[in-house]
Amino acid sequence: MKAPSSLEALIEALRCLPGVGPKSAQRMAYHLLQHDREGAQRLAGALADATRRIQHCALCNTFTEDEICETCASERRDRSLLCVVETPADQLMVEQTLTYRGLYFVLMGRISPLDGIGPREIHLEKLAQRAADGVVAEVILATNFTNEGEATAHYIGEMLKARKLRVSRLARGVPIGGELEYVDAGTLAQAVLDRRET
Ligand SMILES: [Zn+2]
Repeated sequence: MKAPSSLEALIEALRCLPGVGPKSAQRMAYHLLQHDREGAQRLAGALADATRRIQHCALCNTFTEDEICETCASERRDRSLLCVVETPADQLMVEQTLTYRGLYFVLMGRISPLDGIGPREIHLEKLAQRAADGVVAEVILATNFTNEGEATAHYIGEMLKARKLRVSRLARGVPIGGELEYVDAGTLAQAVLDRRET
């Protein structure tokens, strides 16, 4: 017996989610249609809404509904500091330390040759332009202390130093292999304060 084509299409569409194979896609589709049509409608609406409204901030690349995000637009931020993070979740972690009042650049990833992610995929050209605006005096590399995060920091550091920019890296309060998202705010705050020039 063959599933109706719209059901097939739903199962196929669900497979775009990370870690979802054919079996779990099928389970999700059946669950939504059988037990939670209201939830399915909400999901469809939220997806349509988010994909229509969310864009990347023209300055820092994070998600926003406006051309410039709230942080970049704020008058109260120190425009001479630019902190480079891998994800919006990492940006939130640095914000929660309450020790950093500069601006950000969100890579939306990290260099990972095995996954086909190179400098272009993480918007390094945009970062280079952003950092060279004449106002930024220091770029703080706050990528994760994983192998890929370190390689990304190294690559960006070399790229920006070649353009005569001052670059620093978070101090080693963050454990080796550590992801910022899982580090407590106190440790991360100290790592921001103790950052060292690269
Ligand atoms: Zn922004």
